[in-house]
Amino acid sequence: MNLLLHMCCAPCSIFIVDDLIEQGIKFEGLFYNPNIQPIEEFKRRCDNVKILSEQKDFNVSYDDKFMQNEWESFGGSEQERCTMCYQIRMDKVAEFAKENGFTAFTTSLLISPYQQHDLIIELCEKAAKKYGVQFYYKDYRQSFRLGQQMARDAGLYRQKYCGCILSYENRGK
Ligand code: SF4
Repeated sequence: MNLLLHMCCAPCSIFIVDDLIEQGIKFEGLFYNPNIQPIEEFKRRCDNVKILSEQKDFNVSYDDKFMQNEWESFGGSEQERCTMCYQIRMDKVAEFAKENGFTAFTTSLLISPYQQHDLIIELCEKAAKKYGVQFYYKDYRQSFRLGQQMARDAGLYRQKYCGCILSYENRGK
């Protein structure tokens, strides 16, 4: 397997990266998260993915698409917004995997108990079918706390909200 790992952020990725290395799976990362807002936060999470890739010595591709207006002006419900948010990202990851010779893809979103796990699986499976690449699934949620500790130990930035400007405004509520 030649795997593409979608990286939503460094703290959610660190445990998965170690697991892939330990399993001897050939992989590279992709940072594609137009949902991360405002721009300062986008840059900070992107920079920390770069730090992680240097610490663990693996390759990451970066897409600097930033789409705050699309999230701010989205007319649907909160649930519909999250569905759109996952779908845009998983579609792009599957497409990128197909175009760049990867045989499978996965996402660091699968480690977070705060994300909609079943919906992410459903959308990944759809994207896999659409682009003709495999979706590599593993339930990493039980390792979330350990991953956060590893990120703390590695000096990585750990954010306090999901990503979009609306989750930023609702943080701590
Ligand atoms: S809350 Fe998180 S998953 Fe939902 S739209 Fe915002 S960034 Fe995306």
